[in-house]
Amino acid sequence: MQFRDLKKQYQILKTDMDEAVGRVLTDGNFISGYQVEELEKQLAQYVGTKHCITCGNGTDALSLALMVWNVGQGDAVFVPDFTFFASGETPAYRGAVPVFVDVEEETFNLSPASLERAVLKVKEEGKLNPKVIIAVDLFGQPANYPEIRRIADQYHLFVLEDGAQGFGGRIGERRACSFGDISTTSFFPAKPLGCYGDGGAIFTDQDKWAELLKSYRVHGKGKDKYDNVRIGVNSRLDTLQAAILQVKLRAFEEYELDAVNQAADRYTQKLREVVQVPHIREGFYSSWAQYSILLNDENIRDSLQSYLKEKGIPTMIYYSKPMSRQTAFREYDCVKVELPVTEQLCRRVLSLPLHPYMELEEQERVIGSIKECLKTV
Ligand SMILES: *Cc1c(COP(=O)(O)O)cnc(C)c1O
Repeated sequence: MQFRDLKKQYQILKTDMDEAVGRVLTDGNFISGYQVEELEKQLAQYVGTKHCITCGNGTDALSLALMVWNVGQGDAVFVPDFTFFASGETPAYRGAVPVFVDVEEETFNLSPASLERAVLKVKEEGKLNPKVIIAVDLFGQPANYPEIRRIADQYHLFVLEDGAQGFGGRIGERRACSFGDISTTSFFPAKPLGCYGDGGAIFTDQDKWAELLKSYRVHGKGKDKYDNVRIGVNSRLDTLQAAILQVKLRAFEEYELDAVNQAADRYTQKLREVVQVPHIREGFYSSWAQYSILLNDENIRDSLQSYLKEKGIPTMIYYSKPMSRQTAFREYDCVKVELPVTEQLCRRVLSLPLHPYMELEEQERVIGSIKECLKTV
C-alpha cells in the first residue's frame, strides 16, 4: 500500500501526460515556455485572484512574498508552532524573528486567541516591530481567516497565507490561496496539487506586488533579465513542470478533489468511535493534504504505528517536534508564549494513507487494522 499513490495517478493520466511532456521536449522551450504563462492564468482563475506568479518551490514562494514587504531585521513574524519548517525558516532567513503561536487541537490550525496574546506580548516588550502573520492551511483545511483578518486589521499586520498544503480548500465559495494579502502554495509531488519535481506559486490581487514578484524571481529584472534594477533570486517554474501541472490541474478539478474528500469522509465515519478524527469547521472544505488522527498518548500512537507497519500500512508523523523546539531556532527565544497544544499534538498525531486513487478495499484494511490494534491496548 502507498501512502500517496503517485504511480497509480501517472498510469491513469499517462496518455495526456506523455503528450504534454513530449511537446516540451520537441519544442525545446525548457525555461519560460508558453505553458508557464497559460498555467498562471489557469491557477489565478481557479483560486480567484487577479495574479498568479509561479516560482521554483513553496519555500521560495514564501521568501519572495516576504521580500515584497521588505521583511527583515527588527520585524516579528507570527508563525504557527505546528507546521513544516519552511513556514518559520523563511522569515528567519530574511533576518526577522519568527514568533511561534499555538494551534487549536480540533483543526491543527493557528489559534486566534494565542495569536492575539503573542501580538500583544511583542508590542508590550517593544523590541520588535510586529509585521506579518504567516497562517498555514495545515493538512488541507484553510486556517480561520475571518478571525485572523480581524486581528491583522486591528494591529496593522500583513497576512501571508501559506497554502502549501491547502490548494483546493475553501471557506464557503472562496478558495484557498486567496485569503492572504499574498498567498503561496507548493507543487512538491506529495502536495494536493503536485508536479514531478519542485514547484511553487504566489497569488495576489495587488498589481504592484505582482510586478515586484515577477522582477524578484528573475534576478531583480527591469526591462529584461540583463537589466537588473534590484537584488533578486533565480526561482522559476520550468516549462516541463508547468505542462505536467496543466494535466494534473484538470484531473484535480474534474474528480481528484471530490474523490479524496469521499475517502476522507469514509475514514471519519468508520474511525470516529475509536480515535479522535480531524474536525472540519462548519462551512470549510479541506483538500486533505493529510488525514491525521489523534491517539490518547504517545505510547498508543507509537504502538499503533508499528502495528500498521507490520501489516504493510505506511503512516507518517506530521510533526514530531514543535517549531519552537527545533535546534535551528534555539537562538530566537526572545519572545516566548505558551505552546501547550502543539506540545501534545506532536506526541499524539498520526497521518494515515490517503489519496484520490485509494481503493475501497485498501481503506477497509487500514480501518480494520486500527480497530484491531486499539482493541488490545
Ligand atoms: C511543503 C511545505 C512548504 C514548502 O514547500 P516546498 O515546495 O517543499 O518548498 C511550506 N509550507 C508548508 C506548510 C509545507 O507543507
